Amino acid sequence: MKIELHCHSTASDGALTPTLLLERAHARGLTALALTDHDTLEGLAEARLAAQRLGIALVNGIELSCTWSGATIHVLGYGFAEDAPALRAALDDLHQGRWLRAQLIADRLTAKGMGGALEGARAIQQAAGDTENAPARPHFAEFLVRAGHARDRAEAFRKWLGAGKLGDVKQHWPALEDCVATLRASGAWISLAHPWHYDFTRSKRRRLVSAFVQAGGHALEVANGMQPAEQVGSLAILAREFGLMVTAGSDFHAPGEWSELGLYRAPPDDLSPLWRRFTDPGATQQGVA
Ligand code: MN
Ligand code: MN
Ligand code: MN
Repeated sequence: MKIELHCHSTASDGALTPTLLLERAHARGLTALALTDHDTLEGLAEARLAAQRLGIALVNGIELSCTWSGATIHVLGYGFAEDAPALRAALDDLHQGRWLRAQLIADRLTAKGMGGALEGARAIQQAAGDTENAPARPHFAEFLVRAGHARDRAEAFRKWLGAGKLGDVKQHWPALEDCVATLRASGAWISLAHPWHYDFTRSKRRRLVSAFVQAGGHALEVANGMQPAEQVGSLAILAREFGLMVTAGSDFHAPGEWSELGLYRAPPDDLSPLWRRFTDPGATQQGVA
């Protein structure tokens, strides 16, 4: 079975609609896929229709943002019921927070003589795929380019949207413990996404994994795309030490970038893959279409 457990659609920051994503997965010979958009379940209904048409097993998935020790951390949830009240309530809070943030960015741009940013960013976002989510900084960047306030997106970030600039409005995320608790209350299988991506020392990474285990997490994503084999090895050591299961996935966002659907290093054979829990009939919890 060729499976993909980490990928994004236009429901968050991916370039392909859920339908196009599933079609690409099918063309690449994948037989099971978890759509893990950032902090939203919006893509799942469309993904399920496409998966059923193409004969791909769709696993309900999500990549949630949270905070731990001052850093923004990503946690993957799988196999939950799409209508789980705990997850729905947490996502409603985030959804509201993102619109407030988008409004604040637009207000600050207006104060600098760049009006119409919310509507403009929203139009750019909608052109890529219908969503009820608030536009994010890349959409604002594209708006600033098209409105003639910046030469390109890079300049838009450098002058207005990047770290420390007026459009750098921080999203408020829940704590790691709360995020994992929400997923547990929703019947999800939980994996700590790309533990190597953070600018942490070895001991801080180990403390993160420890906190994740304390909170009730189940697995480590030991392979994120084609990340170096020695990193996969180090993460596998942590999985063994803490008795965690493992996941792997491409983290695909867009064609022609650094990742591709179904392309990731294989985790070491001695480790227990989390995906057996929701792809084996009988072992399944819920949420497999
Ligand atoms: Mn992303
Ligand atoms: Mn991530
Ligand atoms: Mn991701």
